[in-house]
Amino acid sequence: MKEKCIRTCMGCNEKKTKNELIRIVKRDNTIVIDKTGKLQARGAYICKRLSCVEKLKKNKRIKKAFQINEVPEELCCELEKYIKESNFDK
Ligand SMILES: [Zn+2]
Repeated sequence: MKEKCIRTCMGCNEKKTKNELIRIVKRDNTIVIDKTGKLQARGAYICKRLSCVEKLKKNKRIKKAFQINEVPEELCCELEKYIKESNFDK
């Protein structure tokens, strides 16, 4: 039996399967969206929901995960754009 990949959202802290989440990774001190899910880097996950992007800005989980002091504004904009463009959040 194959185990499902369960990950925790950095926004709402809910556990979900990988296909319900967006992967973000830290590369060369920048945090980017890993749209292919294949980047070799330390990753974190967030739901495909705008409300979770909002939560991401406010909590410390992502800061801990990537050892950063601030949640990058650009990352949040990128995530919002990505979710809207892909129509994930209906
Ligand atoms: Zn979430």
